[in-house]
Amino acid sequence: MKGKILLVEDEAPIREMLGYTLMKEGYTFREAADVEEARPLIADDRPDLLLLDWMLPGMNGVDYARRIRNNPDTRDIPIIMLTARGEETDKVRGLDTGADDYITKPFSTRELLARIRAVMRRTKNMDAEGIISVKGLALDPETFRVTVDEKIVEISPTEFRLLHFFITHPERVYTRGQLLDQVWGQNVYVEERTVDVHIRRLRKTLEPYNYSHLIQTVRSVGYRFSTKK
Ligand code: CA
Repeated sequence: MKGKILLVEDEAPIREMLGYTLMKEGYTFREAADVEEARPLIADDRPDLLLLDWMLPGMNGVDYARRIRNNPDTRDIPIIMLTARGEETDKVRGLDTGADDYITKPFSTRELLARIRAVMRRTKNMDAEGIISVKGLALDPETFRVTVDEKIVEISPTEFRLLHFFITHPERVYTRGQLLDQVWGQNVYVEERTVDVHIRRLRKTLEPYNYSHLIQTVRSVGYRFSTKK
């Protein structure tokens, strides 16, 4: 079993299509047409991932995502928001809804499956104490500490935040602008080349431990954290 997915979506054809696809992929699938239907399903059996439509009758997906994040019982459930073109505002793009990722309709099932796998992988990399580790490189977001084989890696706060963002959003390319928004915050004015400077420093920090290759340059686009070559 690959995991339990709950889809909250008011459009029946999309529920049907995704249900078919996800079950075929080996996921356990449940569906709800709105938040009211979703609530008892989540309480009854906690899903491993929530696919949440933005525009829903009654409470919308964004408000529901926030509510899930504010509830200690559901805080850790990964959320992928489904949005229609045009709804894709800065709010979703900045993911400050509490969602882990978002995908814009119409999307290919291949793309959605890739996002689902990435989000699942990310949550699987986290232990009960919230320490995230990838291939022996461990990050503790509580103490801002990075360790390799229990040895502490000297890292500055900015490099830490950058590495934390990368490690929690692997295998996806981010532009310098997106990294600035995510790591430095949207209200900070920093030049895009600042990103390059900190990427260089981060690689230098990781180099003695043989992890610098995880931070990859994607030419003329930006950067990516990847455990693949
Ligand atoms: Ca909808």
